[in-house]
Amino acid sequence: MEQSKNKLQRAVFLDRDGVLNEDVGYAYRVEDLRLIPGVAAAVATLKSRGFLLIVVSNQSGVARGLFSNDDVNRFNQALNQQLISAAGVGIDEFFYCPHHQDGSVAQYKLHCSCRKPEPGLILQATQKYPIDLKNSYLVGDKPDDIECARRAGLIGIQVRSRYGEKHEHAAALVDSLTAALPYLT
Ligand SMILES: [Mg+2]
Repeated sequence: MEQSKNKLQRAVFLDRDGVLNEDVGYAYRVEDLRLIPGVAAAVATLKSRGFLLIVVSNQSGVARGLFSNDDVNRFNQALNQQLISAAGVGIDEFFYCPHHQDGSVAQYKLHCSCRKPEPGLILQATQKYPIDLKNSYLVGDKPDDIECARRAGLIGIQVRSRYGEKHEHAAALVDSLTAALPYLT
């Protein structure tokens, strides 16, 4: 066996909206799912480099009553199907935060430890997989993604977006996941 149970794996944590699929704002309808051009090939390249691929996504639309957990899961499955049919490789696992302190759904209206920039989603992943955090990456398009990377001890790669300036912890500022590939080695 090449990977023993105890061997630490390197991971690329991927923000979802704005990195994998176009950010249409609270995306949950499968009809609104548009892969960003080049993403499927980039995901396949990362898998060929041996990385565990984990999505970490804030989905406060659940707390806000805009959509359900089932909607999130359905969207994520459709995303994975599109990746696999385009380039043969999908995401290994999706973790998301359904909470927001200003939510309208009582169950999810809270100040949690998993909404990025908090590192809780990364910690959830490390409870399931043995991950070498300091040699792993997080690619996201908001400063809060990079702040999450900093708090979790990951290398942060920031995809340029309308959401703000380069975070000081970002190891690189790039235009897309494809453009991030040279840094994800
Ligand atoms: Mg995003």
